[in-house]
Amino acid sequence: MACFFCQRNIKEIDYKDTRLLSRFTSSLGKIKSRKKTRLCAFHQRQIAKAIKRARTMGLLPYLLK
Ligand SMILES: [Zn+2]
Repeated sequence: MACFFCQRNIKEIDYKDTRLLSRFTSSLGKIKSRKKTRLCAFHQRQIAKAIKRARTMGLLPYLLK
């Protein structure tokens, strides 16, 4: 089965789309593992990159307490 982004034919994940990114973080704000996200290897890398970028830009928290 194709992953979430493959299905939608999305190649570049927008790091500013925090609503989308938050779907791939746990309730604690951690990046979900590939087992949970069910993304392909390529998009798992992309989502991790986008989330890290969003954190750097202050759009997403590092860890929620
Ligand atoms: Zn994919």
